[in-house]
Amino acid sequence: MLTKVEPCTEAALRQAAEWIRAGEVVGFPTETVYGLGADALNPQAVRKIFAAKGRPADNPLIVHIAELSQIRPLISGEISDRAAALAHAFWPGPLTMIFPKSDRIPQEVSAGLDTVGIRFPANEDARRLIQACGCPIAAPSANRSGRPSPTTAAHVLEDMDGRIPMILDGGPCQVGLESTVLDVTGEIPRVLRPGGVTPEMIAQVAGSCRVDESVMRPLKEGEKPRSPGMKYRHYAPKGSLTIFEGAPEDVAREICRAYDAAGENALILALEAHVPLYGGRRVVSLGLDAVDMARRLFDELRGADEMGATQIFSEAVPGKGIGLAVMNRLGRAAAFHIEQV
Ligand code: AMP
Ligand code: MG
Repeated sequence: MLTKVEPCTEAALRQAAEWIRAGEVVGFPTETVYGLGADALNPQAVRKIFAAKGRPADNPLIVHIAELSQIRPLISGEISDRAAALAHAFWPGPLTMIFPKSDRIPQEVSAGLDTVGIRFPANEDARRLIQACGCPIAAPSANRSGRPSPTTAAHVLEDMDGRIPMILDGGPCQVGLESTVLDVTGEIPRVLRPGGVTPEMIAQVAGSCRVDESVMRPLKEGEKPRSPGMKYRHYAPKGSLTIFEGAPEDVAREICRAYDAAGENALILALEAHVPLYGGRRVVSLGLDAVDMARRLFDELRGADEMGATQIFSEAVPGKGIGLAVMNRLGRAAAFHIEQV
């Protein structure tokens, strides 16, 4: 299959919508990461997403809408006042909320769960695509399973060339990490996966917010996480990654020591302000702060593979605000190999 990459012109969006209506799978930009979209109500089309990604069948997909009125037929029961307030505050935006699902959601989408994750993306091109399709779009991140999520159309092509008919190119993603997954089925909203909408922001609107304990630790043997995707090795570069946490000078000293012991194919990931602490060693800057880090992380992890880095040493950021999402992805990429210094 030939994979066309097209900028998001009106004609290209129409063409992509036609593919989706015909039961095919298309790569498209969102503000979080690129998605791999299909008609959420067409089980055969949804199966093609799993095939293109090599995704395990027990890992559910998020359903994307472009108008609030699209949500009713997809969920069962009433929307709580709390969920409505969160939707009002953060939609459109990088927040996925988990609701009890209606019978219209195919088992393929929910991966056998009785809930469904719904997101109303902020990205204009994503919304135009959903509107042009006239149906909700089921979409996971557009990477091959186990690879870092794509934040440019070029990343999508790297992973999906020959597997899907079309990729819409909307430029680099603004947030750079996947959406916050928030379970709103209980009394207190619970973050299952941190993202651009932070626990602090959620608590301000909902009064309180829990962060699931699986967010910052590896799963135990046989443990079933509330968010099934958490059990898979995600975001992983090919080289081995170790994170160092502590005061910047101490971290730099320990990273330099580990780097010097590692030999030729080592690479350091550091905040811009700390780059001088690493002397002439091979360092990639992750930007000025946690927001920059979120935007750049997946690109730099792919870049590390391209450079052939076999040992990667990264600085940590404080797990506050979007820093929690950065540390969740970085931690999982490192199989939670975090050195406290
Ligand atoms: P991706 O878009 O590739 O990051 O995949 C979506 C992720 O959202 C999955 O890995 C799940 O962990 C999470 N997710 C989607 N639907 C649900 C759900 N109904 N319950 C809990 N987590 C979900
Ligand atoms: Mg993913």
